Amino acid sequence: MKRYTAGPFATNCYLDGSILIDTPPGSFDLIKEPITHILLTHSHWDHTADLAKFLEKFPNVVIASHPDDIGNIKNPGSDGLPLMFAIEGVEPTLLVREGDVIEGLQVVELPGHTPGGVGYYDPKRKILFSGDTLFQGTIGNLSLPTARPDLMWKSLKKLAKLPPDTLVLPGHGDPTTIGDEDWLDRAEQVFG
Ligand SMILES: [Zn+2]
Ligand SMILES: [Zn+2]
Repeated sequence: MKRYTAGPFATNCYLDGSILIDTPPGSFDLIKEPITHILLTHSHWDHTADLAKFLEKFPNVVIASHPDDIGNIKNPGSDGLPLMFAIEGVEPTLLVREGDVIEGLQVVELPGHTPGGVGYYDPKRKILFSGDTLFQGTIGNLSLPTARPDLMWKSLKKLAKLPPDTLVLPGHGDPTTIGDEDWLDRAEQVFG
């Protein structure tokens, strides 16, 4: 498992074997290993910008997204989040929903930051790729055009049910654990 941080917002992506979680701008130049799967946590361009480059190098790569975020992946910026540079749209090849399992990673629907935000959870290793839903000590931006705070609180309560020793690998910043984030059940009071 390797973490790479790239792009103007210091976005994390994670290489787990040949599985890549998110493709921030600049990540293509950092990652030399072969990729078989790209699992997108959500459609914001700071997590998807290099998709087209990976697809060109690996034409058979599986690109997974929740259906509620594909519009903004095919047509970057269509959700109203302004782009800092032109980004080529890509069509995801695998639509994922709650409970789907891809290469041992379970899809956890986490709407709120975006409509189709998801986490990827490995119950054996107790690892969660949390995207921009949960960071160390805080949560993803809820002021963006497609954000839904009411859904975010529910998503965070869902994460509170994971084992406390689950390692959380977020879309920005350093790792944490579910147990260290003891406010997940009352996030609305803390951040609302
Ligand atoms: Zn985001
Ligand atoms: Zn982000």
